[in-house]
Amino acid sequence: MAAKNAMEGFTKAVANDVRRWGAMKQTGVSLRYMMEFGSRPTDRNLLLSAQFLHKELPIRIARRVIELENLPFGLSQKPAVLKVRDWYLESFRDVRSFGDINDKHDELAFTEMIKMIKVRHNHVVPTMALGVQQLKKDLNVTAAFKDLEEIHQFLDRFYMSRIGIRVLIGQHVGLHDPSPEPGCVGLINTRMSPVQVARAASEDARSICLREYGSAPEINIYGDPDFTFPYVPLHLHLMVFELVKNSLRAVQEHFADSDKDVPPVKIIVADGAEDVAIKISDEGGGIPRSGLPKIFTYLYSTAKDPPIENYSIRERGGVVMAGYGFGLPISRLYAKYFGGDLQIISMEGYGTDAYLHLSRLGDSQEPLP
Ligand code: ADP
Ligand code: MG
Repeated sequence: MAAKNAMEGFTKAVANDVRRWGAMKQTGVSLRYMMEFGSRPTDRNLLLSAQFLHKELPIRIARRVIELENLPFGLSQKPAVLKVRDWYLESFRDVRSFGDINDKHDELAFTEMIKMIKVRHNHVVPTMALGVQQLKKDLNVTAAFKDLEEIHQFLDRFYMSRIGIRVLIGQHVGLHDPSPEPGCVGLINTRMSPVQVARAASEDARSICLREYGSAPEINIYGDPDFTFPYVPLHLHLMVFELVKNSLRAVQEHFADSDKDVPPVKIIVADGAEDVAIKISDEGGGIPRSGLPKIFTYLYSTAKDPPIENYSIRERGGVVMAGYGFGLPISRLYAKYFGGDLQIISMEGYGTDAYLHLSRLGDSQEPLP
């Protein structure tokens, strides 16, 4: 009995701490700031960076705990969502129970700890997807589009915040790399070639298409491979990978019973003064106008439900061709995170153009949901 009371007291204390930290103001950083700060990874700067994260991470994590506990339609009670909530709670406790960071020794221990947190949260997207899929079954016929809107907005905030937390941790951890690739500052490549990243992502998408369909349309990339700008290659790879997978699937299915030549998917990279635009253009038959308002929601896919355990265990997104309905909304969040955007233009009966805009200046502040 006494043990139970002690446990309850402890839980209450944590809950109060979560509320207190969840009410504090978050501090955003920009790509440019991260790049400038990270270009001098001195012991003193690493110490400052760890001290910043020691204060900032619990604020961001606490907000997610509070939201996860207050979701509509009983989503908070779904076992998968409770599991995600517990991961956030554990991470909150880990950071809060870490004492002051005063010297290099503390800093290194803190860095190891947040590295672990990043790993703990590796499976958040597929696990949330599982919770949402369970909810989708409950709501199926009854849910109005505007009810789903609330869940959609929550997921947008939730995943955007997750991107931010992972960038902050990844950047700090990355600055400890004793021999970084030339031009790389943590997660950022100051001389990233979008053509090269698009090529690698296209190859990854094509190999999944080959596995799934036994064949894959060609992909032609237009643009100067020597053109570079500062960006996070991991993010660009993820976005192009998702968009190209969608295009390949559309073309593959559109030409499934046709004896015409299968048209290639085209990727055009344009280097503007303000932004770098990447167009992924296919002749896969497009999207009906009635479907367009839904494509950026987390509950919409025209593919059959894939088994959830197949969802990627890597950060890089799905290892299946389609079916989670997450590709477009998540890609748009990655684009928006550094001040860019993603738009989809369709001509039903012909094909689809996806326009990815990436801000070149890198001085837009993180969105802080
Ligand atoms: P998923 O691919 O898992 O279904 P996405 O968010 O990537 O989820 O895409 C959502 C839906 O949008 C797809 O199921 C498909 O119906 C439609 N879509 C996306 N891109 C294209 C495209 N290039 N051509 C035709 N339809 C598309
Ligand atoms: Mg997709």
